[in-house]
Amino acid sequence: MAAAEAAGSGVGERATVPLAVLLRREITSEKMDSPDVLFGQASQSKKGEDFTLIKTDCRRDNGEEDGTFSVFALFDGHNGSGAAIYARDNLLDNTLSAIPLDLNREEWLAALPRALVAGFVKTDKDFQTKAHSSGTTVTFVIIDGWVVTVASVGDSRCILESAEGSVYYLSSDHRLEENADEVERVTTSGGEVGRLNIVGGAEIGPLRCWPGGLCLSRSIGDMDVGEFIVPIPHVKQVKLSNAGGRLIISSDGVWDALTPDMALNCSRGLPADVAANQIVKEAVQVKGLRDDTTCIVIDILPPEKITPIAPPTKKQGKGVFKNMFRKKSSEPSANSDRDFTEPDVVEEIFEEESALLSQRLNSANPVSSLFKLFACAICQLEMKPDEGISVNGSISHPGKQHIWDGPFLCPSCQEKREAMEGKRSSRDSSFKSSGSE
Ligand SMILES: [Zn+2]
Repeated sequence: MAAAEAAGSGVGERATVPLAVLLRREITSEKMDSPDVLFGQASQSKKGEDFTLIKTDCRRDNGEEDGTFSVFALFDGHNGSGAAIYARDNLLDNTLSAIPLDLNREEWLAALPRALVAGFVKTDKDFQTKAHSSGTTVTFVIIDGWVVTVASVGDSRCILESAEGSVYYLSSDHRLEENADEVERVTTSGGEVGRLNIVGGAEIGPLRCWPGGLCLSRSIGDMDVGEFIVPIPHVKQVKLSNAGGRLIISSDGVWDALTPDMALNCSRGLPADVAANQIVKEAVQVKGLRDDTTCIVIDILPPEKITPIAPPTKKQGKGVFKNMFRKKSSEPSANSDRDFTEPDVVEEIFEEESALLSQRLNSANPVSSLFKLFACAICQLEMKPDEGISVNGSISHPGKQHIWDGPFLCPSCQEKREAMEGKRSSRDSSFKSSGSE
């Protein structure tokens, strides 16, 4: 994997920027304006069910010169690793195939949240045909310039610390115990939520969904639990200021042991790969190795803070990171801090968590050109103009047709949608797709 070159190499080791990178920066319209993305990952395995995907060389398919983006993803599997591996191998392609070709960067970023919903649902639906009983959390991060898009199901969190020290949650916690809205949704859709009953009627442990006893309300896989455990992700899109920031993606093995502040504090000032190791070490020290414990640390840095560093001394990266992630109050103003005096604004572009496809596939300003006109919005199956089922649910009145009533679903994805919303059991094969809503 090309990503491996950059993986784990601290700042010190990559002090010289390859010429190709410099040239590419020179010829882009946003000259020197794209951040450097440095990262590292660490893991201690108990069950072998945590998997990661790191790709730093992805290209947008639109002929723009600067059409690159990075993907960082964590999959924490349960009841086996089948779903985690399947999602790792298919989710990115399923997402990208839901984005029409030839969008400019702005359109591409606007289409991304819906494409992620489509990619998650298609991956889950395809995995169901494999009849595996495993499931997985997914925390899926796409970094395009200063724009960070995070899609997540389950409880592997992603946090952001901006350069000035503000901390943001970029994922949602889909634990039934901590998410009353999700308990409500699961119950309404036909699931039962309760604690484990032991002899004598006492209830113990966290809230779980029955049958199956899963603690999560959203995941990919888990077909033995029920369709109300949906794969529809929480999606959040933010734009960092050009002072950058640090992302930490970790499985619950870390977050059960450390608060975000603890994770940030124990690794502050360290290059990304050392930081990831330190966070995993710290988590295991606190709780012991009770679960797979995986951490990816990603530093999004202004490129000018890296490029001037010429002499390849070993630990020079440290100073840069200390300045980057200093607390506001710590040092008044060292010379090198001057570049970071601009306001630290993390701009929120998008956030949505609804489990209803009608809400997730539409947008406030529906732009039909952001969808493939007559393809299923989930699986991208090409359909004839009158074959698709409008995601808006309203069987369009004959004679009173909109110019575009889409996005549309194919019958099979419509069936999946109704199952997720508790309107049918997907495993009831006698239920025909012509059934009523
Ligand atoms: Zn479909």
